[in-house]
Amino acid sequence: MRSPKAFLCILGILGVGALTQRIFSQTPAQPPAKGKRIVPAQKRIVIAASAVLDGKGRVLHNTRIVIEGSKIVALYTKDGPKIGPVDYDLRGLTVLPGWIDAHVHITWSFGKDGKNVGAGGTTQEAAYQAASNAWVTLMAGFTTVQDLGSPTTVPLRDAIAQGTLPGPRILTAIEPLAGRGDLTGTPDEIRAYVRKQKEAGADLIKIFAAGGMLQGRMTLSQEQLNAACDEAKKQGLRTLVHAYRDAVPAATLAGCTQVEHGLGATDDNLKLMAEKGTYFDPQGGLLIETYLLNKERYLGTPFFPTTLEGFAPMEKILPMNHELLQRAVKIPGLKIVFGTDAVAGAHGRNAEEFIDRVRDGGVEPMAAMVSANSLGAEAMGMADEIGSITVGLEADIIALDGNPLKDITAVRRVVFVMKGGVVYKNAARGAIPVYAGVGPK
Ligand SMILES: [Zn+2]
Repeated sequence: MRSPKAFLCILGILGVGALTQRIFSQTPAQPPAKGKRIVPAQKRIVIAASAVLDGKGRVLHNTRIVIEGSKIVALYTKDGPKIGPVDYDLRGLTVLPGWIDAHVHITWSFGKDGKNVGAGGTTQEAAYQAASNAWVTLMAGFTTVQDLGSPTTVPLRDAIAQGTLPGPRILTAIEPLAGRGDLTGTPDEIRAYVRKQKEAGADLIKIFAAGGMLQGRMTLSQEQLNAACDEAKKQGLRTLVHAYRDAVPAATLAGCTQVEHGLGATDDNLKLMAEKGTYFDPQGGLLIETYLLNKERYLGTPFFPTTLEGFAPMEKILPMNHELLQRAVKIPGLKIVFGTDAVAGAHGRNAEEFIDRVRDGGVEPMAAMVSANSLGAEAMGMADEIGSITVGLEADIIALDGNPLKDITAVRRVVFVMKGGVVYKNAARGAIPVYAGVGPK
């Protein structure tokens, strides 16, 4: 049985004692029954905002947002009644829906020796590190993330959903389907694998359909991809496909939900995706920047170069990332979502990817915001739950000290974070604290 004391201890470990008062003032007096999600008491919260990006591309001025429990229950604009009293005065800031990162590896961390552990960490340190990754991601304004595959994410996802750990809402792929040519299995075996993931509680299916970033062929045949994405659809699950070059049109033709990365995609491939309604998640640079910044920590760990010089080819990938995005934004109707591929060293720095996309990828700031709000929610099939400041949706609300439409670096200055009606961060403007070593630049 989880007691409020245990909850306080967990928060204490994470160094957020100062926030517990605020969280508890919104939770029921009686601890919830075991396994039940903590839901805030039905106290009404009123937020005053002078500028709201609604998540769908509109800007609202002089707004009052009313929250009850976990949801937004009313929205008053300047012509409506002046509802009060105001609990959180966010005027002078930019208020928007909590961001959605469509592609993270929330459990990836550096180990005791400072080296990359990847997805394999099962020690106590790795578990605490994963909890810390979740916390810094939430503090950075990300209220929902999609974890593209690690069995160790499941208990973290469930602990956050039950309210025993603070963090973003997590959806996870559990074990990805790793393409290995014929060795992957027959179409029937692939279908059975997809059903196994569903039984294990996967929220989506992750598929590796291509080799390395710079070269490497398809690792699944068209027939195998067809089987994977068709079976997932039958099971009510979405499919996210790691694809480069020929694997991009193959995944699109197989009816998969979303293409990740996409290096080597031609304009025709991008147009095909737009035509078929396939979501596209290219990266603007955070992933490669993270590897280059942390070379020593990745050096010699599985899948990484064994010499520092071995990292040099990665520098060639950054301009390729930018060029692909610059072409992608020009394709009419192509639905580009926001995914960082956050690995060890990138957690809590997810918003840097917005800066890369806008500065180097030619993405309009408003489009960048929408890609991590309503479009990101739509791609997850959650548009009626999250991704916009709309009556009836979850109260996932953040505020930035600055206007990202004028200066995209404002995404580094997240001063307020509410998830499901619970306030996790409400920092004084200009004094944004550093969490677990991650802070604004
Ligand atoms: Zn990834």
